[in-house]
Amino acid sequence: MRNILVVEDSPLVLKILEHLFRQEPDLQPLFCASLGEAQVLLETSSALFFAAIVDLNLPDAPRGEIVDLVMQFNLPCIVLSGSYDEHRRDELLLKGVVDYVLKESQHSYEYAFRLLHRLESNSHVKILVAEDSEATRHFIRRVLTPHLYQIIDACDGEEALRILREQPDIDLLLVDHSMPGISGFELVKLLRQKMKRNELIILGLSADAKGSLSAMFIKHGADDFLRKPFCPEELNCRVMFSLERRDMLRALKQAALFDALTGLYNRRAFYEQGLELLRQTKKAGRDISVAMIDLDHFKRINDEHGHASGDAALVQFARALRKAFPDTLLGRLGGEEFALISTLDGATLTRELETLRRHCAALKYANGAPPLGFSAGIYHGPVDELENLLHQADIGLYQAKRSGRGRTLGSHPSSNT
Ligand code: GH3
Ligand code: MG
Ligand code: MG
Ligand code: MG
Repeated sequence: MRNILVVEDSPLVLKILEHLFRQEPDLQPLFCASLGEAQVLLETSSALFFAAIVDLNLPDAPRGEIVDLVMQFNLPCIVLSGSYDEHRRDELLLKGVVDYVLKESQHSYEYAFRLLHRLESNSHVKILVAEDSEATRHFIRRVLTPHLYQIIDACDGEEALRILREQPDIDLLLVDHSMPGISGFELVKLLRQKMKRNELIILGLSADAKGSLSAMFIKHGADDFLRKPFCPEELNCRVMFSLERRDMLRALKQAALFDALTGLYNRRAFYEQGLELLRQTKKAGRDISVAMIDLDHFKRINDEHGHASGDAALVQFARALRKAFPDTLLGRLGGEEFALISTLDGATLTRELETLRRHCAALKYANGAPPLGFSAGIYHGPVDELENLLHQADIGLYQAKRSGRGRTLGSHPSSNT
């Protein structure tokens, strides 16, 4: 939870902000209506705040004095203004405010909230600035600093490559085109041979007036391009949008691979990873174990204790399964059915499943709910098509269910169950 200082006197704007804050459970606003009130609050408890949103025109501070006050306390400051004034904007950006947002529409307020969200994650974002001009490096650093990024400088392409090798967690590279040694453009081509767009965002920079350079940068793998000289907001917007786009892609990828309830691989990802694991195991000439696991009488938990209790049981079971098989390929294939692929031998796998069974019986997932039990079927033997192996394990599971549940049965003659 982050506390945000809001200094605003207009009842209408306050209403809009209150409404938007209600949709943000992780952001807690503290409202002040004047410079005087904000001063008292900051002098007594500035450490409580993560950032501030301030109105430039307050009853006791009509000329933006609130900005100086907030900046004195080193708080990231987002300025709201009723009117646009070019001179005032330049002055504020020079002071190091995060941004200058016009109170124009719903969209402007949403933009201010996007800034707040980015500020929350920016301190983990590493930006490498590869630029031979010291003045430009200095300018970029000054523009990006209020957004709380970690900024690293490189004076040329060689140095940028070295830093990227040493710090593979760099998120974004701002790269000038004309530098001594490797040009920015060559650097992009080189980097894109091994780093995908979701691994490193690249923004090209150049003072070159040729329009084709920006297109060349982008065609060879840069995500965006800025022509120098650029204004501070343009740089910040492009950096912010690139990071938002990358985060959105990561979230989509996460959603496509993992089951939202349990966090285990979903069926599709389990199959993809399973095929790879089988390929490696076959290459190593080893046998493989596959288990299908299905919770017993799970429908009753839903029917008698509610769907939320059923969900809690699934979450707890997945957690116990992960704990019992920490380095094993696990997946939720659907409903209350799980699977794993492991290089453990059949006897060891059966023993581990029995230990898991004892843990599950002791799990507390809902008041008054029955102990959690499961049946399992396992296959152990030579690598075959994944579908066949799962089918074999499923035969064991079917037999386990038919013979009374709460047990693990093998379906392969060579398994020790
Ligand atoms: P058996 O011992 O034979 O496996 O019986 P069962 O009741 O466990 O199996 P059945 O297939 O009859 O019921 C499975 C139930 O799981 C039905 C379905 O509504 C429920 N289910 C599937 N997915 C979810 C989920 O994500 N959350 C909850 N709460 N229930 C789910
Ligand atoms: Mg006002
Ligand atoms: Mg240069
Ligand atoms: Mg079941």
